Amino acid sequence: MKLRLHFVVDPMGWFCLSMVLFVWLYNTLFIPKLVLLPHYAEGHIPGALVVCYYLASLLCVSALIRASTADPGRLAQDPKIPLAEREHWELCNKCNMMRPKRSHHCSRCGHCVRRMDHHCPWINNCVGEDNHWLFLQLCFYTQVLSLYTLVLDFCQYYYFQPLVSVDQELFAVHHELALLRVSCFMGLIMFGGMSSLFYSQITGILADTTTIEKMSHSSDGIGARRSWQQSLAEVFGTRWKVLWFLPFRSRRPLHLDYASNSHV
Ligand SMILES: [Zn+2]
Ligand SMILES: [Zn+2]
Repeated sequence: MKLRLHFVVDPMGWFCLSMVLFVWLYNTLFIPKLVLLPHYAEGHIPGALVVCYYLASLLCVSALIRASTADPGRLAQDPKIPLAEREHWELCNKCNMMRPKRSHHCSRCGHCVRRMDHHCPWINNCVGEDNHWLFLQLCFYTQVLSLYTLVLDFCQYYYFQPLVSVDQELFAVHHELALLRVSCFMGLIMFGGMSSLFYSQITGILADTTTIEKMSHSSDGIGARRSWQQSLAEVFGTRWKVLWFLPFRSRRPLHLDYASNSHV
């Protein structure tokens, strides 16, 4: 697997990305320690629940790291433009380079990105043609992990607490309740934010419209008629649906017959 790492030098982006990593780390350390492992040890829950939590956490952080370090679709310095495609290319007046239509110049990254969706400060990277699939995975796994965390927080608060043998200091109980509330607060924000983002991303992909095009109302006539499977297969670079959920792979663009209708 050939990986091209891509790092954006932006202190604000580093700050936002650190906050996201902090939320992930907090819950990944706290939820198993306080909720899952003690109840597993006392036989209240099966080991599969613990494994599922760590698996969701691993997939979530893998999608985050890969989305933030993947090349979003930077253009080559001296691109070879096929003769038949010349009319679909244009000159960027900021970096003075030829680029395919639907590319955009990102002022934060300082270069053009093919089929750029938007620049996301939370991953400190652009979301473009080559890492859009990783961004979708990140939205999906963040929803799964935050919903799982919220359910466990709720169960701990209402059902599990009386089951635990009462040998804890009063301070520890108060301390844990405070940690639980912080976890709930983070879970609600992450789940609410990611659900609406995921919905708008999916509707954009199905309509073949990027976030930038939606905001600038320049999407009229861009969308080509295609099934949801075809639209998502193009974004994920494979028709194998099980691979849509795996961040541990590289993406190869699909050259579908209908692509010529939608590239301009
Ligand atoms: Zn440019
Ligand atoms: Zn950018």
